[in-house]
Amino acid sequence: MVLRALIGRLRGLRAASRDTRQLALEFHGPPRTGAEFLVRLQGFGLRGVRAMTLTRNRSVMVSLTDGTLRVHRAFLAAPEPVHRAIVRFLMASRRAERLAARRVLTGYPIGDEERRAPRAPERTHPDDEKLAASLGEWHARYNRERFGGTLRRVTVRVSRRMRARLGHYAPAQQGRPAEIAISRRHVRRHGVAEALETLLHEMVHQWQDEQGHPLGHDRRFREKSRDVGIVGRAKRVVD
Ligand SMILES: [Zn+2]
Repeated sequence: MVLRALIGRLRGLRAASRDTRQLALEFHGPPRTGAEFLVRLQGFGLRGVRAMTLTRNRSVMVSLTDGTLRVHRAFLAAPEPVHRAIVRFLMASRRAERLAARRVLTGYPIGDEERRAPRAPERTHPDDEKLAASLGEWHARYNRERFGGTLRRVTVRVSRRMRARLGHYAPAQQGRPAEIAISRRHVRRHGVAEALETLLHEMVHQWQDEQGHPLGHDRRFREKSRDVGIVGRAKRVVD
């Protein structure tokens, strides 16, 4: 009797799990494409994003530019609380809430297979140290004069590796502090005035990061850029 009841119950369970699996395929399977991912996030309340790109770039977790969301593809397979954290990170109006959501995102392990081997960090070439020191002084001055002294002090280094990009802000990760890099080629080709504008651009990214906003060139970025006096005359590609 007991055995029969047990078998009956197991059968019932199996049938039920078959049903859920079918439902799962329709409703709860992990998204496979950026478009599916976007629909899922919209289901969790995401608004104001028109398109989504999946990336393998290890420096990008979640970034937003002109309505296009870029998310590392490792997040496709993340559990629901992580997907909900992406939405909170993008939608929250309070800094504390954004930072809490970001902690969920940075705590999600991006698998080794998804992460390219990290390159050895680049150091400023000895011949560029004077230039780097001067950019560091400009960082302190801009911070005082245009950001009300709210930004943290970060290392500003000069990069000989950067070719296409003019500058870069890298958030703190894996025990390495945040930093700004300015392309040496950019300084040489376009001159110091333009390089200082690039520095300001990267400082706005630093501000985004420290406020817990996603990095990117969204409306908030443009407003802050205007506030700090970036004129944006040169339409070169700044990262
Ligand atoms: Zn940028």
